Amino acid sequence: MDTNPNLCNTVLIDWIPEIPIKVICFVWSAAMERIPITIGLSKRGVKLVDVNCGQCSNIEETVSHIFFKCPYAKTVWECIIRWCKIKLPHCESLEDILKFTRSWGHCPKKRKILVSICYGTIWWLWKARCEIFFKEIKIPPTKTADNIQGMVFILLKHRSSNYPIKWVDWNIYPFC
Ligand SMILES: [Zn+2]
Repeated sequence: MDTNPNLCNTVLIDWIPEIPIKVICFVWSAAMERIPITIGLSKRGVKLVDVNCGQCSNIEETVSHIFFKCPYAKTVWECIIRWCKIKLPHCESLEDILKFTRSWGHCPKKRKILVSICYGTIWWLWKARCEIFFKEIKIPPTKTADNIQGMVFILLKHRSSNYPIKWVDWNIYPFC
């Protein structure tokens, strides 16, 4: 696990009660580049046959690649952006996306939904990466986007009474 010293103490995370602590901790760890990606393990002497991204195969796996630069991640983000009907700035790091979501819009409730969706996206991109890394199972990006929609809906709907949105409406647009 590589740690970029420039990131220390600079990553601000929104603590959302409806989002499980394991998801929030993962987002924080990923933003701090403290997750076990292959290139970091390889530098620490762990013998790996391949340090390239399992989704696109020909690029070295980095945090930025897994979550933003990989064509797989780009397709998933495109699905999420289309669903949310938002414009996402160019992001190369988790810090970029966290900064964007923290200052997005004027409605705290909608902002909380967007932050939750972004956390869900980061969580599911990692899960998709692990599926291919450990089991060689490739989850289609549209399925990953569906998983994000489903997980965030369940979390917001069932862990709080503040989100009376129905599934059918949520699927069309999450900020109703
Ligand atoms: Zn890739």
